[in-house]
Amino acid sequence: MSKPFADPSCLFCRIGRREIPAKIVFEDEIVLAFHDVAPKAPTHVLVIPKTHLARLSKTSGADAALLGECLAALRGVARSLSLESYRVVINDGAEAGQSVFHVHFHLLGGRAFAWPPG
Ligand code: AMP
Repeated sequence: MSKPFADPSCLFCRIGRREIPAKIVFEDEIVLAFHDVAPKAPTHVLVIPKTHLARLSKTSGADAALLGECLAALRGVARSLSLESYRVVINDGAEAGQSVFHVHFHLLGGRAFAWPPG
C-alpha cells in the first residue's frame, strides 16, 4: 500500500493523521470511517481509503481492490450501526458536489431518500 494519508494539505489526510479531530467509527490497515461533521441524514458516515486518491474518475484498475475494500468496510459499518436500508454516494468533481478531493463514500441512513437525487 502507498504511504497512508500522504497529502499534506488534504483535509481527510489530516483527519487520518489525527491533526484534525473526527468521530471515528471504523479503521483497519486500508480504510478509515468517521462521522460527517455536517450530517445530511440521521446517520452520515464517510468511508475513505488511507491512500490519497483525489477523485474516483482519476483512479485506475490498479485501485479497484482498494475501492472494493472501502465498500466492504462501508457494509460492515452499516451493519454495526443497525442500518437496514441506506444510500451510498460518491460525488466526483465539483459540479457533482465534491468539496473534499480525497475519494470518499457517503453512507447515509436513518431516513427515507428521494429518487432521483437533487
Ligand atoms: P463531498 O462534498 O462529497 O466532497 O463531501 C465532503 C464531506 O465532508 C461533506 O459532507 C462535509 O460535511 C464533510 N466534512 C467536511 N469537513 C469535515 C470534517 N472536518 N470532519 C468530517 N466531515 C467533514
